[in-house]
Amino acid sequence: MEVANLEAAFERITVVDENDDQLVSSKTYHKSKGSVSTAVTVTSLSASNAAANRMKMPLQKLATTNAGKIVGANITKVTLPSQAAQSRPADDTVANAHRRTLTESAIIVQPQLKQWHLGMFEIGKPLGKGKFGRVYLAKERSTGFVCALKVQHKAELQQGKVEKQLRREIEIQSNLAHPNIVRLFGHFHDAKRIFLILEFAGRGELYKHLRKEQRFAEWKAAQYVAQMVAALKYLHKKHVMHRDIKPENILVGLHGEIKISDFGWSVHAPNNRRKTMCGTLDYLPPEMLRGGGGDNFYTEKVDLWSLGVLTYEFLVGEAPFEDTQVMTQRKIARGDYTVPSFVSPEARDLIKRLLVLDPEKRIALEDIERHPWIVKHCKGSERAYDRASGGKFRGSSERDS
Ligand code: AMP
Repeated sequence: MEVANLEAAFERITVVDENDDQLVSSKTYHKSKGSVSTAVTVTSLSASNAAANRMKMPLQKLATTNAGKIVGANITKVTLPSQAAQSRPADDTVANAHRRTLTESAIIVQPQLKQWHLGMFEIGKPLGKGKFGRVYLAKERSTGFVCALKVQHKAELQQGKVEKQLRREIEIQSNLAHPNIVRLFGHFHDAKRIFLILEFAGRGELYKHLRKEQRFAEWKAAQYVAQMVAALKYLHKKHVMHRDIKPENILVGLHGEIKISDFGWSVHAPNNRRKTMCGTLDYLPPEMLRGGGGDNFYTEKVDLWSLGVLTYEFLVGEAPFEDTQVMTQRKIARGDYTVPSFVSPEARDLIKRLLVLDPEKRIALEDIERHPWIVKHCKGSERAYDRASGGKFRGSSERDS
């Protein structure tokens, strides 16, 4: 398709806001994706990052027999390189899966010094709509690599004063490569828009899965938490705090694995200390709630508190401090929450060790991996993926736990 046609296809596409469905509109789900920041022009963002405007693309081309059939601007069916890894033996382990994913990324991440532009992509169906942009399924023409293309209008970004936030997001996310973190392969811009080339998370938003299932079974919650721990260990080792961990910012990959996305609030803080306040109230840790006065610094341990809130929400279906704004703040400041009786004692214990007011006393990521609840549900197997892909390799012992 010619670039002009592609542009026209873009204009024609209407995106149904997938966040608007009835599941989401119920109850108190008024959560926003965050906002803020000081002004830096989007033009300068793109110009100053010319060196970063290079995408690391796969050498691998999709097998034509499996590749998506393109109808007009719609990719009707796609096969990703990593799908080859789907037929796995029953005794496949997390370690194996991890190694394999690393190998896959080693293949995928062959750097090519390339300037990207819209004409290089075939645009497929809309995947979703965020506050400042729309996301489309896309295919890079020369390699057949399937990705998600996030399109944001510069004018809207300027209006929302989120240019600095976007620049930070790009800088941080393009330096991350982990199976539980959405990859940012590159970015480019034209006169009006900024395009982010993202890893395609085939099963969409975790938030929607949670709303649909109301709450997750303990085995599933535990495996998601274990994956969050793996991602956070990686981030914290690189001195990155995410600061906005919540189901809305987590996507699900084709194998049922979770992938943290949305690094708009994240910071790279090598000195380990930050003073700014931001984030969504329900997930806000007490030390961030107290504001920026005096020596009120905070560390990457903010993500541990949010992980506690997330664990609770996975298991209960709603966040522990959900209430009016004033009451939520009050409850967070006191660490005032109750866990319903259907939650197992082990899960309850982990939540208790994460939702600790004193950041220094929160359980460490390494200790979460050894926690009985995690060990019980994640003992060296890859069951979350297996179950998500139809339960083919699912063991019977933990089926109803
Ligand atoms: P965002 O603007 O990042 O909040 O994205 C808006 C919506 O697009 C999300 O809620 C997802 O439904 C979808 N989306 C964003 N990024 C991806 C991705 N990498 N893979 C699949 N869907 C995505």
